[in-house]
Amino acid sequence: MNNKYKILVIEDEKNINNLVATLLEANGYRAISAFDYKNGMMMYESYRPDLVILDLGLPDADGTAFLREIRKDSYIPVIILSARADEREKVNALDMGANDYVTKPFGSAELVARVRSALRSARHGSEMSSPDGMFEVNGLVIDYGARRVFIDDAEIRLTQTEYNIIALLSEHSGKVLTYSFIIKAIWGYNDLGSTKRLQVNMANIRKKFGAKPGKKNYIVNELGVGYRMCDRND
Ligand code: CA
Repeated sequence: MNNKYKILVIEDEKNINNLVATLLEANGYRAISAFDYKNGMMMYESYRPDLVILDLGLPDADGTAFLREIRKDSYIPVIILSARADEREKVNALDMGANDYVTKPFGSAELVARVRSALRSARHGSEMSSPDGMFEVNGLVIDYGARRVFIDDAEIRLTQTEYNIIALLSEHSGKVLTYSFIIKAIWGYNDLGSTKRLQVNMANIRKKFGAKPGKKNYIVNELGVGYRMCDRND
């Protein structure tokens, strides 16, 4: 099962880009490299990464232009990577929605720690997830660290997208998440086919979860509104 997080690295300095990509791969992530704004945007659209590491000084545009563009409809974590030690640049980028900021030159351990933390806060915002990174309700167990899901101790094999949907719903368990909220969080954009794509994924998840009509299931479809994962009070 290939559930590796995809991380897009947009950095025009080849040495740094290679260094960051190698570092990420060595730490179990899948790195995708882009060397300018235009290519970065293309890679972003086609790979839909889980996180972006973004250089501010790109040859064809400022990195903040990329940030502004993706923040129109996506909340995915962005870590700014820049030579600019300027506080104002940093605050500006954070105000525009960057999650964190690393100044070059940076230490390998520091960058990996920032990546881990940004992914964790993006995926594990829930008060329901225990300190060891597990979500548990009525026999359903989600191990966020390993990105694995179990029901009554049997592993449920999910695709990366299906897992991301389950993780998102579990982080907000007990609350209804609207279709558009889920779609934006999972795919980063909302187009004509999105609702259908979500419904297909949900149908597959429910099948894998062994959902049966009339039986109490883990995920409730609030018709016309969205989906809700049951919590401990259900
Ligand atoms: Ca640069």
